[in-house]
Amino acid sequence: MGNMNLDDMDEEKAGFLYVHIPYCLRKCAYCDFYSIPLSGEDVTAYVEALKREMLLRRGEIGTIRSVYIGGGTPTAIGEMHLLSLLDFAARNFSIRADAEITVEANPSTIDGPMLKTLAGGGVNRLSLGVQSLVDSELAALGRLHNGNDARIAMNRVGKHFDNYSVDLIYALPGQTTESWESTLREIAALAPPHVSAYELTPERGTPLGEAILSGRADIPSEDTVVSMYCLAVDFLEGKSYGHYEISNYALPGRECLHNLNYWQRGQYVGIGAAAHSFVDETRSANPGDVAGYRRALNSGKIGSAMEALEEALPVSRDITRIGETERIEEIVFLALRTSAGLSLKRLDKRFHKRLLAAGSPVIADMVEEGLIRFDGDRLSLTNKGMLLSNQVIVGIIRMLLPPLSEP
Ligand code: SF4
Repeated sequence: MGNMNLDDMDEEKAGFLYVHIPYCLRKCAYCDFYSIPLSGEDVTAYVEALKREMLLRRGEIGTIRSVYIGGGTPTAIGEMHLLSLLDFAARNFSIRADAEITVEANPSTIDGPMLKTLAGGGVNRLSLGVQSLVDSELAALGRLHNGNDARIAMNRVGKHFDNYSVDLIYALPGQTTESWESTLREIAALAPPHVSAYELTPERGTPLGEAILSGRADIPSEDTVVSMYCLAVDFLEGKSYGHYEISNYALPGRECLHNLNYWQRGQYVGIGAAAHSFVDETRSANPGDVAGYRRALNSGKIGSAMEALEEALPVSRDITRIGETERIEEIVFLALRTSAGLSLKRLDKRFHKRLLAAGSPVIADMVEEGLIRFDGDRLSLTNKGMLLSNQVIVGIIRMLLPPLSEP
């Protein structure tokens, strides 16, 4: 897993740039990400605003190791806007020759010429939101594409990109272990370098989430969901994918740098409406308001836009300075999601004893139950532990942190 070591990151400034494109052709029934319909939107003005924000925040951006254009549906705005953003970043920042440049896409918004142009313009990784290959499951999710559209899209992506991800969701209304297996089998036959498989979370305020939470839509039972998770782990590991994070699988060397940086608690700068950043132990989020964002950034020349950013964004910008307790919580919570786990070196010595198997009944029990393991100075979750990750990680954090607040 050569890519898993990000220890040589430039710690001074962020080498990871995220750009948020908040537009979608239509809202999916389960989605609570910040996105708005593309129709009637002034995309050119938004792209200009993104470029201005990049310049305004140049003090936070170091040598770029990864650019991730996410959304929303970035490919909905067309390849020329996406490449103009990348070109702007390349002219104004130093981008490593081996940088990972990812664009998120969905099957309804790509064709061969677009993919060819993106690949020729420096994009070297595509993340394709397939979700399922079963028509009825896609319809329940309110996706614009059907299974066949997804098959065609995957074939096209495979022709133009040797590095790409297929994103899937399980625990869907009407889904069975058999239909999940059929999706996994078909995906694995195409051997995408990276697969994400997330369990559906019914979100309040979304049509599907409300239908599930009020009992109007049926999802698989808890036992079935556990079987689906185990099936994905066994099946994909059997096809040589490393299960490198709870919901992510990659062929050797194809782990996603952008994601790894996040789980290793590396710094990143998020540009755009609703984009999140983590720089200098401070987490911040731009307001989820495209029109306000555009107005603030495009209100004049860079000088006045700087004032506009300072005046307009901080009032509604959510800024949190991370304290010591949250820092430990974040390190443990994020690192334990990954197969590489938590290096004890990242924690203060006073925590080491508490984490060593013999030192704590909580930890000893978890080792005994096969939920966690120690390997040298690393603590990680087993596949069984990943299945129960929330309880296990919360248990570890609770065991570590209460004494901190004692006098
Ligand atoms: S395409 Fe993605 S971001 Fe857009 S509505 Fe659907 S799930 Fe949400």
